[in-house]
Amino acid sequence: MKWEDNVRKVVPYVAGEQPKEKNVIKLNTNECPYPPAPGVNEVLVNMDCKEFRKYPDPDVTELREVLAHRYQVNPEQVFVGVGSDDVLSMAFLTYFNSDKPILFPDITYSFYDVWADLYRIPYEMQKLDENFCIVKEDYLKENGGIIIANPNAPTGLMTPVSVIEEIIQANQDVVVIVDEAYVDFGGESCLPLLKKYDNLLVVQTFSKSRSMAGMRIGFAIGNEKLISYLNDAKFSFNSYTMNMTAIAAGVASVKDDAYFTETVAKVIQTRERVKKELHELGFVFPDSKTNFIFAKHQTVSGQEIFDALRNEKIYVRHWNKPRIEDYLRISIGTDEEMDTMLGFLKSYLAQKQG
Ligand code: PMP
Repeated sequence: MKWEDNVRKVVPYVAGEQPKEKNVIKLNTNECPYPPAPGVNEVLVNMDCKEFRKYPDPDVTELREVLAHRYQVNPEQVFVGVGSDDVLSMAFLTYFNSDKPILFPDITYSFYDVWADLYRIPYEMQKLDENFCIVKEDYLKENGGIIIANPNAPTGLMTPVSVIEEIIQANQDVVVIVDEAYVDFGGESCLPLLKKYDNLLVVQTFSKSRSMAGMRIGFAIGNEKLISYLNDAKFSFNSYTMNMTAIAAGVASVKDDAYFTETVAKVIQTRERVKKELHELGFVFPDSKTNFIFAKHQTVSGQEIFDALRNEKIYVRHWNKPRIEDYLRISIGTDEEMDTMLGFLKSYLAQKQG
């Protein structure tokens, strides 16, 4: 068909499976196994649907204000979007507008190269070392911008904030985005660096630590001028990205800090226990500071374990990609879910090795 020559062609990002069947153990998309804060339920139950006839607040003022208060910045420094995917995509479009390549690790969130391709942004992936660590020097050359997930996904590894700071410091002529989707699970945020650098954008999400992947809320914090450019792009796209229910649910979540702290602590506690047990079963993994563990078995291939788990209706994530094909990314579920998975792995591996 002739018109196809004129179509913008993209190779889309492939999201983790959302199985339709019930009674599966779903450890493949880093969702939180616990519900959102009780206040979220309350505002949704009491929502006045008559309000839906109106457009939502295009500035998302209320949610930006509670976030600003929570993170000790001013509301003009906060941008809110439909999940951090929306925020990141908009940030790529806004800030990465150079002929020079943007830089990011070869093993990282696999949406980055998709957005770069979509917006025709040149990019160069920088190889993580054999321990999946960032090689700082790789980010000290000329570039059109930098994006680093910290902690990284799918490795789970945290780069020290001091290293990230050196990268930001050396790249003040471009925007450096730090994607902190997983930072609440024991990582260290770069937010304090905002006082020193106006070229830093920190992006976080409600999808993991706030148990609200289904509501689609993400946000960015940065210098006011930086955020104003992001708003210009957003308002050139769609003024009403955030719907009323998401805004109300988001506000209720941020207001309950005690619940947030408690939920995150539960996930971390389970993660640390599962690390020990996976280790005993012969798995090796980088030391995760996230709500998942990126683990490889010392003798059995990643594909084999992935298939065996799937047969048991235990979903984890596996990529058939160089350097990581033997790894499985296992999200931290409830203690019960993790025990079922560990119990199965124990008998499966014993039978394979025995
Ligand atoms: N960044 C990273 C590193 C992620 O793993 C994810 C989750 N897929 C996201 C951003 C996007 O999450 P969300 O759009 O749900 O906020």
